[in-house]
Amino acid sequence: MSPPSLIDTHPNLAGAAPVALSYELFPPRSAAAAESLWTTIGELEATDPDYVSVTYGASGSNRGTAVELINRLVQETTLRPLAHLTCVGNSPQELAEIIGELLDVGVRGILALRGDQPKDGATPPPGSLRYAQDLIELIRRVEQRRSALLCAGKVAVGVAAYPARHPESPSEAHDIEVLLAKQRSGADFAITQVFFHAEQYADLLTRARRAGVTIPIIPGVMPLISLRRLARLGELTGVEPAPELIDRLAAADTDAERTRIGVRATVDLANAALDAGAPGIHLYTFNEHAAALDVLDKLALPRPHRHGAQRRPAPSAATAGQLAS
Ligand code: FAD
Repeated sequence: MSPPSLIDTHPNLAGAAPVALSYELFPPRSAAAAESLWTTIGELEATDPDYVSVTYGASGSNRGTAVELINRLVQETTLRPLAHLTCVGNSPQELAEIIGELLDVGVRGILALRGDQPKDGATPPPGSLRYAQDLIELIRRVEQRRSALLCAGKVAVGVAAYPARHPESPSEAHDIEVLLAKQRSGADFAITQVFFHAEQYADLLTRARRAGVTIPIIPGVMPLISLRRLARLGELTGVEPAPELIDRLAAADTDAERTRIGVRATVDLANAALDAGAPGIHLYTFNEHAAALDVLDKLALPRPHRHGAQRRPAPSAATAGQLAS
């Protein structure tokens, strides 16, 4: 038998890996929303996250504001953006152009998504990409063509994963096959859809690992404080919030009490996901920092202190306002 490798027994590599922290933001829809978003960005930046993800409208409906927000994050903050990109309704040519634009502004991480199908049931234009898997392959092709520009580096490609079955999927087993296919096409990591039961995340991890999925699967956790938002989420994603949590939030006498209950429930969910082996926590912020920071405070994540991450001056309201135009 050969002796254990020096790498395996090195003390810095044998212990638990640091836990990643990230936030989701969406591009603002008005000047007022942009102003409050930039306050949120400043608050989140102070927590030194590993990256912030920026959503993208299906069919590229908000391409301009998404790219502008990402560009400003790169130029004016210490934050690393992870750009969401959807492929539904877009041709490979259109998408290759957007991928190039993202790489040009300095993006080195893309979350490759299909996007939701149009509600009116319209069939996608002929020649448009069908699945997230196609988009991953396209990103890898664009990356290959630009490898000299990227110093032969790589773009980190993330994908979506589903603790509760994707609404269009025939089964949870099919979801795992899709996740494995996305890994084979070049996905580096996955972020999950929101979930309300920690067992669903633990179960996803177990089934994925058994099937050969080796990439990190980061739980997406939403501060569970707004009844309106929880109801809307159920409509949009098909993920039904736990009835007992809804009852407890509805029974709260004050907003402060509702926030306390919601933050506690979120912290418990995130801690259970970490206990199940989560490599990080991705917080869905809805562009608001207070609840996200409250959750983070109570989570006490084992995080390395990064030297040299310096806050740049906060942008002026005028430039923040321009973002929404
Ligand atoms: P896919 O992986 O392509 O799967 C879509 C459906 O097709 C699934 O039912 C799957 O089972 C099936 N499928 C996939 N591949 C195959 C195949 N080869 N053969 C047969 N069936 C297949 N939406 C936005 O519009 N903008 C965003 O910014 C955004 N961000 C998100 C971030 C996260 C972390 C998550 C979890 C979701 C996000 N979404 C976003 C929603 C996402 O676009 C929807 O959930 C969408 O319905 C599916 O996207 P997907 O990338 O999982 O698609």
